[in-house]
Parts: sequence; structure tokens; C-alpha cells
Amino acid sequence: MFLPMPMAFKRVLIANRGEIALRILRTLRDLGIEAAIIHGREDRLSLPVRLADVAYEIVRTNPLDSYLDIEAVVQAAKDLECDAVHPGYGFLAENAAFVHRLEEEGITFIGPAAEVITLLGDKIEARAAMEAAGLPTAKGSSEPISEASVAASLADDIGYPVIIKAAAGGGGIGMQIVNAADEFEGALRLCQSRAKSAFGDDRVFVEKYIQGAQHVEFQVLADGKKAIHFGERFCSIQRRHQKLVEEGPWLTDEKRAEIGALVCAGAESVGYKGLATFEFLRDANGDFYFLEVNPRVQVEHTVTELITGHNLVELGIRVAQGEALPLAQEDITWRGHAIQCRLNAEDPKQFIPSPGRLWDCHFPSGFGIRCDTHAHPGYEMPGCFDSLLAKLLTWGHDREDAVRRMRTALDETVITGVEHLIPLHRRIMDEEDFIARDITIRYIEEHPDLLG
Ligand code: ADP
Repeated sequence: MFLPMPMAFKRVLIANRGEIALRILRTLRDLGIEAAIIHGREDRLSLPVRLADVAYEIVRTNPLDSYLDIEAVVQAAKDLECDAVHPGYGFLAENAAFVHRLEEEGITFIGPAAEVITLLGDKIEARAAMEAAGLPTAKGSSEPISEASVAASLADDIGYPVIIKAAAGGGGIGMQIVNAADEFEGALRLCQSRAKSAFGDDRVFVEKYIQGAQHVEFQVLADGKKAIHFGERFCSIQRRHQKLVEEGPWLTDEKRAEIGALVCAGAESVGYKGLATFEFLRDANGDFYFLEVNPRVQVEHTVTELITGHNLVELGIRVAQGEALPLAQEDITWRGHAIQCRLNAEDPKQFIPSPGRLWDCHFPSGFGIRCDTHAHPGYEMPGCFDSLLAKLLTWGHDREDAVRRMRTALDETVITGVEHLIPLHRRIMDEEDFIARDITIRYIEEHPDLLG
């Protein structure tokens, strides 16, 4: 029987910036693949651009457009004769139209197929697909809802409170919590109008609001046929539904195996290829409710790398090259505990971005410490992009050991010139509920003292 040989990539275009661009570049080097990169005006002197084998400037009036202009990025990949494009996270990573265009040009997208991205990008469709694959979901509507009376009768069935969410949603935008029937009229309109302006799609749906929830997510890798999982990350410490601290492992071996088997079945049911994260809420009883699938590498993939010892970015690239999964589920084991603090350039009280020049910076290293950053002394932190400056991770034999090492690592870190979250993270590492693992998604709201 003829088996097609995997096509080794010679040159890959990184369609991203910042720490993730550097993260991808390093792995391309490890694999002997040339690294090409696009960049806007603000990033022309950035570390990933300077280290890349070849860089391609896309100048736009709005700096974000340098990374969002589909035709310009496709043209860059063609001009630079790249075999594949790595989207990282954000920007075009979940844009099915972009993936289509690459498919038309015969350039590999390092991630799932366009139709899988389309399916998973629609929360109503994704919920239905995952429910069919056996994943637990919160009770809710299987169709978009636009009438307050329909929403109210559904809420009578499932019980209050409920949450209204955008089908095309992301970043927590538009979500409305509803406690009584007479709130639906206003809440529905508000969620619809926010969804329309953020996503160009005003379809919204209703689901049970999970009280006292924790955010737990599973890391998956699939080759289009088979999927394996790398266990869970706990990401409940959030501001405005965005994660600040991530750690793992969190669950018992039995629970990990149970939910892990379900997420693999879910990924296989849609022919998933590449890295994916399955996000869940876990209620006070320990029951799981599927939230969404993120069809790309995530900021916090690093936590999983430290506890499993596998290079996830490398595995994602190899699968995109056409290799079958190089690991079996039994090959994945977990050792010790890892924590990641996102060192954003923001003020640690209100989380307002703090762009500017880094007059000085020093990032820690040493046993059990990893720091992924594109920052260096003299780096000009732009105000127009995400405020993530560095990801500081520690590994320990157990959680206590990892927390102790994180305190030491935070104390050693120096960032001068912009405001940053180190003071907040340092307080969290000493906070009683954090230490006792008594954490829900309302942790920051419920601990205002941490904001200094
Ligand atoms: P987005 O794609 O906009 O980030 P998600 O569905 O992933 O939306 O949810 C983001 C966050 O919103 C969750 O981590 C949680 O804090 C909150 N959330 C979403 N759905 C619910 C729910 N049913 N009950 C309670 N909180 C929820």
C-alpha cells in the first residue's frame, strides 16, 4: 500500500509578534526549519524579527492591520516561498477565511481545517457537536434566542441565574447574567448589540449560570484521526474573563482520565488536527460543563510543557507536516507542579495598559524557572497590542515547592519603565485562599485587598 511521506517544511512564516513569535521561532530552529516573519512598523527592531532568517514588513496606518490583513499575509507567505504559516494565538489564528486562502494557495496552515475552525467558532454549533460526542454541557438553548418570552420560559425550565452569551463570542464580550424574567428584555438587547459590533453577528444564546465555578481546561493534540490529551490547567484567577495565573495539575488521576477521554472523543468527532484546548467550568460539586474549544496554541501551553516534558509547539508543527501522532496516551505522564504568572505591562490596580520604554529589565532563571519573553532593556512596549510582556513559570516537586520558587522568582524580576503586575502576583502567592486552593473565577473580585 502507498503511504504518503510527511512533507518536511523548509521554511515557515510566523504570522505573529511578541513572546509567541519568539517561542515558535526557537522551535522552528530546533527542527531545522527556516523562520520567516511578518512585522509592522512598531516591531521592526523586535527580538523575533532580528532573530528570524527573513523578515517581511507590512506597514499599515493601524498597527493591528499589519497582522490582520489576510491578503498581505498570504502574499508574504508566497513571496517568501514558505511551505506553511504558524498563526500563534490571536490575530488570524481563528480566522477561517485566512485558512481558506492558504488552502487555495497550497500553503499549509499550522492548525485545524477551515471548516473545523468555523464549526468551533460558533458556540451554539460547538456546544451541539460536543454534546453529541458525549461532553457534559450546561443546560441551555440549542438555537439562537431573540425573544425575551422564549428566553424566560427556557430560564423557568433550567432555573435562574442564567447567562446570555454571543454565538460568535470571545474575550467575554457581551455576556449578561440574568436573575429574573423581567431582566431579559434589556439584557438580550445589550448582548445582541455588543455581539453585533464586536463580531458582526448578533446571534445570542442562553445557558445556566454556573455559580462558584472554577475554570479548568484540557490540552489536546490530534492528527486528524486520533487525539491524545496532556491533562488539565487550572486558570480561575482572571480579570475581565482573562487569565492572570495558570497552573497544573489540578485534578485527581481518575478525573483527569475521565474528562481526558471525553475531550479526545470530542476532538476526534470533528476530525481535529493540531493543538486544541477544551475549556470547562467546574462547579462546587466537581461537575464539569463544556465552555468552548480554542483551536490553537494557547498562552498557557507552557504550564503543560513543564509538567509533561513535551514540546507542544513542536508537536503541533510535526502534525501539520503530515506526521501521525508520535506519542500514545500512555506516553503522557505528569511530574510535579507548574505555575505561570502573566507579567502584563498594566497597572496592578485597574489593569490599564502601561506602554513605554523598558529602561531596565532582568528576568530570573535557575532551577525550575522558565521565562518566555521578547522584552529586553530598551524595548519599547507598544500600546496598540496585547499587554503581555513576559510569562514567568516555575516548576516544583509539588504545588508548595512551585509557589515558593515563584515568590523567589518574582522578587528577583526587575522591570523599570512601565507599570506591571508583579506586585499583584507577589501578593497572590502569599494569599491564604490561593495557598489553600480555594479559588473560583471570582477570586480577584472577592479579594480586593490584592489590588493594593
Ligand atoms: P469567551 O469565548 O468570550 O472567553 P467563554 O464561554 O470561554 O467566553 O467564557 C469565558 C468566561 O466567562 C468563563 O471563564 C467564565 O468566567 C464566564 N462564563 C462563561 N459561561 C459561564 C456560565 N455558564 N456560568 C458562569 N460563568 C460563565
